[in-house]
Amino acid sequence: MEIGIISQSSTLEKLIKDELKPYVKQIDTEAYYAEIFLRKLGEAGMFSSANKSQRDYLLEEMYVVQETAKVCMTTAFCLWCHLAALTYVRQTKNEKLKNKMLPSLEKGEILAGTGLSNPMKYYAGLEKLYLQAKPVQGGYLISGVLPSVSNLGSDHWFGCIAGVNEDKQIMCFVPCNTEGLKMKEKVDYLGINGSATYACSFHDVFVPDEWILSENAEEYVEEIRPAFLSYQIPLGLGVTQASISSIEKVCQKQNGCNQFLTKQPEVLRTAEQQAQEKLQSLYKGESLNFREIARVRLETAYLTLEAVQASMLHNGSAGYVKDSAPSRRLREAYFFANLTPTVKHLEKVLNG
Ligand SMILES: Cc1cc2nc3c(=O)[nH]c(=O)nc-3n(C[C@H](O)[C@H](O)[C@H](O)COP(=O)(O)OP(=O)(O)OC[C@H]3O[C@@H](n4cnc5c(N)ncnc54)[C@H](O)[C@@H]3O)c2cc1C
Repeated sequence: MEIGIISQSSTLEKLIKDELKPYVKQIDTEAYYAEIFLRKLGEAGMFSSANKSQRDYLLEEMYVVQETAKVCMTTAFCLWCHLAALTYVRQTKNEKLKNKMLPSLEKGEILAGTGLSNPMKYYAGLEKLYLQAKPVQGGYLISGVLPSVSNLGSDHWFGCIAGVNEDKQIMCFVPCNTEGLKMKEKVDYLGINGSATYACSFHDVFVPDEWILSENAEEYVEEIRPAFLSYQIPLGLGVTQASISSIEKVCQKQNGCNQFLTKQPEVLRTAEQQAQEKLQSLYKGESLNFREIARVRLETAYLTLEAVQASMLHNGSAGYVKDSAPSRRLREAYFFANLTPTVKHLEKVLNG
């Protein structure tokens, strides 16, 4: 449970029960995108930041991600995409863009994604920047390819970063239906195929000044990174909690033979609770510390992998059925470990 206590927890529970649970198998096996669930979360006020401090809305939204991830991490990942994009618009100094987009994004009328994996890796010295921006009258022309951007659709928007020159990168917010942008759906992954993931090719896409989130992307990334990372942690915590429950459900199988396995649910639960406590303490201070958040994010990735593996061992051949819940969580957890910042990226930043 933990994270942020939300006043609408019964509404959330009902939405998860009615609008998500019945579709989990379809999401996992038929690449079904739970768009209606996401829109209904917004409609119910789950993304509203009105009259709330950043700390309050962060913790509340992290709780929504966690509760969703307990049932379906794929959809919780889509939710993370939307919350990351919301962060870009909430924190921009471009008031015109904020006034135009923020109300619709918070109400779930417009859904959005984030193409920031590559720039996050660029700023950590892992790879070159994939998008280039050419200054023109009234904006920029953007070209290049982003291999994977999730939570997209014809009426969705997403945030991305493009290099103008060695010293300058811009961050912008673009609609998927803009001219010159080609999107190709990707559904051949081991898991999370219901995440509405597309390869996005930009061919001289005109981005007017009104869509610019920041003319100094390097500085802006520093500002948005703590929230970007925070929203990821409950993806792992939700999957871990669900794995522990699945282990507990089968503890009597074969005369309690599972008790002889080396990884028991109590150990996982203690580690999960410690992660929750660390998480709470991160948001008590005045400002958010990126390195501390990154450390909890890394520990959560390892804990999630341990929990899904333990769940596979405890569930035996029932878990080895292709689309069983333990197998889905195993596949989802490997994505969590490989979502930017990946475990190798975090190890480099924290211990390199
Ligand atoms: C299902 C899925 C959804 C994703 N959604 C998003 C998203 O919404 N936004 C976002 O910014 N990133 C997204 N990513 C990227 C993700 O966050 C990681 O960056 C990615 O998993 C690879 O990280 P890596 O550092 O291990 O790179 P590696 O796997 O080591 O690859 C290095 C680079 O090669 C390129 N590459 C790898 N695989 C392919 C491929 N199949 N086709 C073309 N190029 C490739 C990529 O640019 C990658 O950065 C998604 C990835 C997957 C698998």
